Amino acid sequence: YNIKMEDFSTRCEIGRGQFGVVSKVYHNPTKVTMALKEIRLQLDELQLNQILMELNVLHEARSPYIVDFYGAFFIESCVYYCMEYMECGSLDSMFSFGCPEPVLARIAHAMVSGLKFLKDQFGVIHRDVKPTNVLVNSQGEVKLCDFGVSGKLNASLAKTRVGCENYMAPERIKSGASDQGYTVQSDIWSLGISLVEAATGKYPYPLNGRPTTSVFLIMQDIISGPAPSVDPARYSELCRDFITVCLHKDPSERPSYAQLLEHPFITKSQAADVDMAGWAQAALTHRASAA
Ligand code: ADP
Repeated sequence: YNIKMEDFSTRCEIGRGQFGVVSKVYHNPTKVTMALKEIRLQLDELQLNQILMELNVLHEARSPYIVDFYGAFFIESCVYYCMEYMECGSLDSMFSFGCPEPVLARIAHAMVSGLKFLKDQFGVIHRDVKPTNVLVNSQGEVKLCDFGVSGKLNASLAKTRVGCENYMAPERIKSGASDQGYTVQSDIWSLGISLVEAATGKYPYPLNGRPTTSVFLIMQDIISGPAPSVDPARYSELCRDFITVCLHKDPSERPSYAQLLEHPFITKSQAADVDMAGWAQAALTHRASAA
């Protein structure tokens, strides 16, 4: 079945990314509420078709830690990507609550499991691990989106990608962010930075309101400054160790996904009861009352 624009009704904007808007839509044929992401590209039809073909493998990417893919199509030079609608939006919007350690551990587990799934099943490295690419639904499930499954799409987006909140690993910055030599280890660094951000509520490198010149300073700090950490008064030694091992400056010192899943920070939380749904519901309620 080929999904198309005419299938949708009640389009309403829920987010705005660098390449276009994300809308909540209702898919009439299946009666499913979906998120429709628009990606504006300067490409011809041949190249757009190549992207659609590459995205098609996602139909087989079924994992509880990956946002479900429903299909993609293009209109003019815009790719439309249809995916599972995640009511709470991205992880960065959950930070205003602070993230209790048990919840943080569950988030870490979901992110590592999702990244491992992509690597094991598709040989895919995510390449853009950051809080806005981690989505949460009303049941408190945490899933990854925006992974680099299409080489063609990666290449087109990389040309225009900007932004000063940098989740790039030191070795990636040193290599001039070239695509060669991108490994799983670099995603593990970005995972570590994302967890620090979830715990502290803010991007861990100083921005100080200097949007353009600071990009260089941040990069320098990522390479030579101390790795970010979280407050020992609020987070246990296990938690801090998990973050520390993800943020080894030397990528070969960072653990594998399998090793991370066996880290006691994760195993302890998996054995415990964590009310993820309660956490998600609290966020939704808080947002509704703030609106
Ligand atoms: P970026 O370009 O910064 O990665 P996106 O274009 O992916 O941002 O998404 C912009 C915003 O739209 C996200 O921060 C999130 O709040 C929202 N969003 C994206 N995908 C979904 C989804 N599947 N369900 C609900 N909200 C989403």
